[in-house]
Amino acid sequence: MTKLNDLQFDLEHIWHPYTSMTKPLPVFKVKQAYGAIIELDDGRQLIDGMSSWWCAIHGYNHPELNQAVTDQLQKMSHIMFGGFTHEPAIELGKLLLQITPPSLDKIFYADSGSVAVEVALKMAVQYWSSQGKKEKSNFVTPRSGYHGDTWNAMSVCDPVTGMHQIFGSSLPNRIFVPAPQVGFYDEWDQADIAELEQTLAEHHQSIAGLILEPIVQGAGGMRFYHPEYLRQAKLLCEKYNILLIFDEIATGFGRTGKMFAWEHAQVEPDIMCIGKGLTGGYMTLSATLTSKKVAGTISQGEAGVFMHGPTFMANPLACAVAVKSTQVLLAQDWQANIQRIKQQLSVHLQPLSQLEYVQDVRILGAIGVVELTFNVDMKTLQQEFVRRGIWIRPFGKLVYVMPPYIITENELKTLLQQLVEVVEQMEHSA
Ligand code: PMP
Repeated sequence: MTKLNDLQFDLEHIWHPYTSMTKPLPVFKVKQAYGAIIELDDGRQLIDGMSSWWCAIHGYNHPELNQAVTDQLQKMSHIMFGGFTHEPAIELGKLLLQITPPSLDKIFYADSGSVAVEVALKMAVQYWSSQGKKEKSNFVTPRSGYHGDTWNAMSVCDPVTGMHQIFGSSLPNRIFVPAPQVGFYDEWDQADIAELEQTLAEHHQSIAGLILEPIVQGAGGMRFYHPEYLRQAKLLCEKYNILLIFDEIATGFGRTGKMFAWEHAQVEPDIMCIGKGLTGGYMTLSATLTSKKVAGTISQGEAGVFMHGPTFMANPLACAVAVKSTQVLLAQDWQANIQRIKQQLSVHLQPLSQLEYVQDVRILGAIGVVELTFNVDMKTLQQEFVRRGIWIRPFGKLVYVMPPYIITENELKTLLQQLVEVVEQMEHSA
């Protein structure tokens, strides 16, 4: 009875992501989660294929991460970052500078991925305005991108699948170029960069930066594109005096097989956003990193400072768990582990490409994507997955997995076998 009341309360009063308050999608109440297992209130156990939207890279209830939070809790859970600093922020900074592009040197801690993107865009605008170039204030971005749900992050999301139709006229007008078409494993075609070149040639005087998700366009379509696109984009940014901003919020911390996706192309951005896996999914924290040059220019501008400073900046609990999560990742042969997951994803998912209603199967690092020829009915599919003891949240035409790295071979096998059966059985209903 209580359970029913709880769910009823949730249904009536609590908003969930992208959900109606009058016709909400069903939600499942979680009691606890450990390793790659999510346990529902009624005792059912689900194998996690989502890492809670890319972030729980070491799974749930990890003893070392738990300990890091507990230890920090004994000292202080939070302290303002204006006028103070603390060991977790400093330790995390040292670690981040070891694993991010060598030219990035200055770190701004923010609260969430979207805020890290806002910060990156503000840095770019302040960089140019500090040099008296106030007209360089717009952004160019490829279509099919996703950068978050706050105002400016939203403005650089794909204008069709993003939220432009709803918020259209109230959003700043950004400049869009076609999404990269040459796939990660395809042969490079110089035509893929032509429109970006033309656009920059035409509009560079008004453009502060080019923002993109390197290699993997995530929530905008789970698309994997060619590393040469990034190398060419970098050359164009240099030629036309435009800052290059990488949003590595989803791609970071090993997910694509490299620590960060820029390494696939060996192209260093001027500004880079990280988040999600940063704390191993324990709590929200992000960071925007930039070079000495960009930070120095901003600091010598008319404002003399960078104008951003959130209340929970560098929250010590979040920084402490981020330090531990990164240490746990670095202490293991994570590349081999991602290869193990990739291998298993290929074995199980690749055969689905034979089905006539499967448009494409693609795998990169620990990301497996099955793209169908039709939009899935998320509600029905979600319930079917749960009935089968797995947690996968499809969207649009995409059924995809990005499991926690600690998932065992057997768990991953079950997850993928169930996924495959569900997709195969769609044949009968398609
Ligand atoms: N950028 C990318 C590439 C993302 O995938 C996301 C989240 N899905 C964000 C930004 C926004 O992050 P957050 O949800 O933490 O605001």
